[in-house]
Amino acid sequence: MVFESQHPLVKHKLTLMRNSATKPKKFRELIREISMLLCYEATTDLTTQPLTVDTPMGRADGVELKHKVGLVPILRAGLGMLDGVLDMIPSAKVSVVGLSRNHETLQPEHYFEKFVGHLDERTALIVDPMLATAGSMIATIDLLKRRGCKDVRALVLVAAPEGIAALQQAHPDVRCWTAAVDSHLNELGYIIPGLGDAGDKIFGTK
Ligand code: URA
Repeated sequence: MVFESQHPLVKHKLTLMRNSATKPKKFRELIREISMLLCYEATTDLTTQPLTVDTPMGRADGVELKHKVGLVPILRAGLGMLDGVLDMIPSAKVSVVGLSRNHETLQPEHYFEKFVGHLDERTALIVDPMLATAGSMIATIDLLKRRGCKDVRALVLVAAPEGIAALQQAHPDVRCWTAAVDSHLNELGYIIPGLGDAGDKIFGTK
């Protein structure tokens, strides 16, 4: 199931990110902000437990987050989304997966993984800006499910219809939140109109 954000702030920030004139510094600020907003949309069902606190004026019954969340940025572009999501869920633990796309086969190649303990007790929130072929996303979900994860969610900025179809085919239980669903993939596997290479924009490479 893919949820495309309709929030005006998300659409506004994404448009700025798509602009090729936007420099890496601004791009990083925007990806952090938009990740916070997408995180907000993807976490409306997190569980809480009661917590009573003393205000300057008396006692107030409230709640604290009970849900255990594990963030999984896919290297390297996923790192751009990490800080915004961590700002929103500071108690989250972070596992890192390194997958790069072979530009000829378009298949993901696995080169790094570091998982937190008791991964299976946490809702896994994978972050990766571009859902293109979905190869890296599917490979990461495969890894997480092999380690017992039952609740796996994905946060992306731009999704291609081809990637959505592949993800739904491979992992129909995984929900994905995106800022936009774009037109298609080109022959090199880039999303059209997309925003170019997200990693290059975040890290100022190229
Ligand atoms: N990865 C990117 O960074 N951009 C795309 O358009 C597709 C994959």
